[in-house]
Amino acid sequence: MTQEDPLTAGLNPQQREAVTFPDQNVLVLAGAGSGKTRVLTSRIAWLIREGRARPSGILAVTFTNKASREMLERIERQMPGVSTRGMWVGTFHGLCNRLLRVHAAEAGLQPSFQIIDQADQLSVVKRVMKAAGVGKETIEPRAVQSYISRMKEEGLRASEVKGPDMHTANAAVALQLYRAYERLCVEEGIVDFAELLLRSYELLQRNELIRRHYEQRFSHILVDEFQDTNVLQYRWLKTLAGYGRGPEREEGAANTIFAVGDDDQSIYAFRGANVGNMDDFRRELGVRKVIRLEQNYRSTGHILGAANALIGCNTKRLGKNLWTDAGEGSRIQVMPCPSGEAEARFVAEEIESGHSRGRSYRDFAVLYRSNAQSRAIESVLMAGGIPYRIYGGHRFFERAHVKDVLAYLRLVENPSDNTAFLRAVNTPARGVGAKTLEKLDETARAADLSLMGAVSEMKGAAASKLRGFGELVMGIRRAASGRSLTDLVRIVLERSTLKGYYEDLDRREKTAKAEDLSEIVNAAAAFLKSADIDPEADAMEPRGEDELSPLSSFLALATLEAGDNQAGAEADAVQLMTVHAAKGLEFPVVFITGLEENLFPHVSSLREGGQAGREEERRLMYVAITRAKRELYLTYAARRFINGTYQNEQQSSFLDEIPREHLSWRRSPAGLSEEAEAWGEGGGRRNAASGRGGWSGRRGSDEDSGQERTSYGYSWRPRGADSSYNGSKSEPLLKKRTEAGWSAGQHVRHPKFGKGVVISVSGSGDLTKVQVAFAGAGVKQLLASMAKLEKI
Ligand code: ATP
Ligand code: MG
Repeated sequence: MTQEDPLTAGLNPQQREAVTFPDQNVLVLAGAGSGKTRVLTSRIAWLIREGRARPSGILAVTFTNKASREMLERIERQMPGVSTRGMWVGTFHGLCNRLLRVHAAEAGLQPSFQIIDQADQLSVVKRVMKAAGVGKETIEPRAVQSYISRMKEEGLRASEVKGPDMHTANAAVALQLYRAYERLCVEEGIVDFAELLLRSYELLQRNELIRRHYEQRFSHILVDEFQDTNVLQYRWLKTLAGYGRGPEREEGAANTIFAVGDDDQSIYAFRGANVGNMDDFRRELGVRKVIRLEQNYRSTGHILGAANALIGCNTKRLGKNLWTDAGEGSRIQVMPCPSGEAEARFVAEEIESGHSRGRSYRDFAVLYRSNAQSRAIESVLMAGGIPYRIYGGHRFFERAHVKDVLAYLRLVENPSDNTAFLRAVNTPARGVGAKTLEKLDETARAADLSLMGAVSEMKGAAASKLRGFGELVMGIRRAASGRSLTDLVRIVLERSTLKGYYEDLDRREKTAKAEDLSEIVNAAAAFLKSADIDPEADAMEPRGEDELSPLSSFLALATLEAGDNQAGAEADAVQLMTVHAAKGLEFPVVFITGLEENLFPHVSSLREGGQAGREEERRLMYVAITRAKRELYLTYAARRFINGTYQNEQQSSFLDEIPREHLSWRRSPAGLSEEAEAWGEGGGRRNAASGRGGWSGRRGSDEDSGQERTSYGYSWRPRGADSSYNGSKSEPLLKKRTEAGWSAGQHVRHPKFGKGVVISVSGSGDLTKVQVAFAGAGVKQLLASMAKLEKI
């Protein structure tokens, strides 16, 4: 009898075929819970065990940070004893950040470039508008922001945009602002989310040596949730796979793409995701094999039946049906509630009763369509002493007071970070007025200094406050020397006086901000642990060649993974998140809350997207339902507090699309208002006469990124940015240089790292540094005079 292979044991034949498929481009097209992610991780483990790939030859990409962490954990479990260190597993943004940090100079960036989140991006847009003399009445800053992001997601620089864009009123103005925005970002060394992707795509496109290095390094590229890739992400993947320069594959490229996806779960069309990428992938990369998986291993019968029926209402589908042999399970419980608060109480009570019957808190997930809904649920859970954790949503590192602390940390890392300077200089208030800052800016410009650098040049009364601030930051830097990251955060909290400031505020205004500040220390500790960094390591010392200091890595992560403060990740807590953030995850018990017409489906999709918008919302509902393994609750409220007033709600049309046999309607608890009683019960009864009552205008955007910062009402140009980057298409970013006999393109051999190619040369004389891409050891930065490099 042959022994069963532990990596493929228990897989069905289609799954096994996918895991062990020969090295070709493959598409796995299958519904929710059919094992796509499991197949993808098993394939990685299998490739490595079979010697078909080295860990450093694996690049695996997915959509959320939580999903990418879970992916890495699954891989580690499947190949005990094998290190996953050399693998690149992460989100598109995370991987692009990594690429740009290694090749900052070639990409025209400072190595310590700062990533800005959406709220910061909006302030930058406002500054650009101010400087250009364009007011809100001409074009909304948010419209400019989304225009810029959309252009970048389509891979278009301002210089490449042709003709008017029909989606944006005032397209010509938007374009002009886009151009100015690009300039400012380059000058200030800041990079927004879309820029991460675009810039690393351009780097790969233009720099042949770097492209070829990665083409050869990543023998296997694996993509989860492929249906949600946008045009640029798809092109980025194609480039890495050797198809980036035209229809013909680049000579020598021998890697393959393994993509898994589900067209029914495409939920990012509003951000430019393109399901058509699946077809293009098959056509352009000559995919000969599409593997379909049809058995669902996640959910019980009623849950799956509801999901199948609901998604069956969509017309644009590739078409597939899922089955399960897990039995019918319990019916889906539908609970009408008189108000949003009552809904929250119901959820909390069900969780508490499940917990008292032996379930862990972490078995429960509460999902909502829009971030604003979390507040009511949070307050009931908090009052009931039920531990919970929010993923995504009102993101931890995006909270204004948390960003204040990060601004100090950014200044400690890089005193010439002007954005951080402007944020920190008056938080807490130091009486530095706008006039003084304007003067400071003038001085800085004249002397070609950063704002911090110009502080010592200032004269007069106002100058002493500025100098005090400068000394404070420098004092923190000195105090932090040799100290760990967690110590550094503590030092910042104390010396900046932010801690005391927020404690006072909490006392006066009953907020709980100081707690969040202490949480940053925990977040830093959790980060060190997850990144496998010695908790005592010097916060400001780079950890080795091509590695960032713990502080820089932490700061990059804080922006990229804004919602995912890792502290307490293992704690037993109820999980709260938007439906978008739940993609790819699964939980024993799921509550889908706010099932009201215009909330879910959301009014913005219905208004702007018409039928296509409704179909996208339906896919989102399909994603939500299929997260549940054993029990599913659908809840809605007759009245909900929205935009400051109570609004009458109608139950979601999605409830009508689920066959009654899967549902079990609960009665509202006794003592509710008559209106709610009459309205809520009876399975799918809709009050047609009342119409879509109660909607006064548009709901707050579900993408609202929270509080904004004041932007300063004058324009300024910080220094220090690399201006060699001109965004033009044809000029290669890498300029070949010959110094001390070294030049880019030179083939070399190193006693330890083996064969490689020089990709850049900098410095001169004894201090000449060469960056070499080694076939087996990745990219290294070496001091030419010391490294035993041999030309070959
Ligand atoms: P989604 O579309 O939601 O991302 P998916 O297709 O990626 O879902 P997975 O998350 O990989 O599905 O798998 C769903 C669940 O089914 C997981 O708990 C997984 O471990 C389990 N599973 C997958 N295949 C099998 C199998 N052959 N036997 C038992 N359990 C399986
Ligand atoms: Mg999955």
